[in-house]
Amino acid sequence: MAQYKNIDDLGALLGKRVLIRADLNVPMKKDQDGKTIVTDDTRIRSVTPTIIYLMEKGAQVIVMSHFDRPKGKIVPEMSLEQLAQPLADAIKKAVIFINDCAGDAVTETLDAMEDDAVLLLENVRFHKGEESNDPDFAQALADNADYYINEAFSCSHRAHASTEGIAHLIPSAAGFSMEKELVALENALGNPKRPLCAVVGGAKVSSKLDVLTNLVEKVDHLIIGGGMANTFLAAQGINVGSSLCEHDLADTARAILTKAKTQNCTIHLPTDLVVAKEFKAQADNRVVGLNDVARDEMILDVGPETVVKLTEMLDDCKTLIWNGPMGAFEIAPFDRATVTLAQAAGKLTKAGTLISVAGGGDTVAALNHAGVSDQFTHISTAGGAFLEWMEGKELPGVKVLEK
Ligand code: ADP
Ligand code: MG
Repeated sequence: MAQYKNIDDLGALLGKRVLIRADLNVPMKKDQDGKTIVTDDTRIRSVTPTIIYLMEKGAQVIVMSHFDRPKGKIVPEMSLEQLAQPLADAIKKAVIFINDCAGDAVTETLDAMEDDAVLLLENVRFHKGEESNDPDFAQALADNADYYINEAFSCSHRAHASTEGIAHLIPSAAGFSMEKELVALENALGNPKRPLCAVVGGAKVSSKLDVLTNLVEKVDHLIIGGGMANTFLAAQGINVGSSLCEHDLADTARAILTKAKTQNCTIHLPTDLVVAKEFKAQADNRVVGLNDVARDEMILDVGPETVVKLTEMLDDCKTLIWNGPMGAFEIAPFDRATVTLAQAAGKLTKAGTLISVAGGGDTVAALNHAGVSDQFTHISTAGGAFLEWMEGKELPGVKVLEK
């Protein structure tokens, strides 16, 4: 089991300059007055305990992040300046913004700053060296700090200067929220309590092939739901009507089923289905068996009999990893399987018999919709990084923090 360097490993903090890599690439929109506001501040809030802790220990805190994809150029709309106030609101301290992220201007600002303020650097991706992980750029970032802390798990699947390069240059550690995420993920897939069950749903098999292949080797039960299930059903000769289905992946789907058998992984596909002729809320629908989907019908959810069987199976599991909804959860009533299974998992977690970890953009929305977000053991907001972790890949920004 991998061990990661944490804040305690850094040594004395008093008077030290600590550079935190945060993920302040948060969703924003313009309000009625044309003012830009943050629509989901989860990622800002996740970094505040680390900032507050460091300040209380007398460190001088510097925060850096990327925002959007400026591709190595200065793009004014992608300036981090717009995050200064939201960050100040979250930490309840003054935030000073500087329009670069490295060099003398940063040093001079730090020298002149009051202790009780945080320095927010400009978008690291305004420099080409960020995404190319240029050693000189990483060094320039490191020059203004004594220590480096990574709080951006969601960016750590990329070997960039601010997530990977810099960590080789000065003492580095995982921040509190990064540490929490790593522990949760380790408990779920690295060294899990068994039986271990995974739910993989969502739209397409093609986007999650590597996830399926890796999980088949590691989990005891694999529930395949959502549009992905259609591809597996079709590969077994079942007529899926006009459902979302990747018929060209039939061979791949069959290979995954065969591999599962050799790995002692039980794959759970739906045994009944909810079908409709239109993809819209409250569309006329019916519950059918596997051999009753009409040519003009779409499978939009897993059926109730399947959900009962799955929840019974889950009762006996100790760990659950979930990515991808079981059906078209955005349109009622095709959210039912997702909501029922999510609530069952939430209940078992609250009762203390299940460790539940989930991630993925739509998955997080689906679990919020089911009202179980605060019942799960851990919900990752890291989209791409979470999926790469589920694929069994090594995340360079995490690897570099290993003890
Ligand atoms: P995540 O973002 O959590 O990784 P995905 O993007 O893979 O999840 O999948 C979410 C999408 O899958 C949702 O938009 C949902 O409507 C869609 N989906 C799930 N089941 C079906 C289905 N049976 N038919 C069509 N779309 C589906
Ligand atoms: Mg998605």
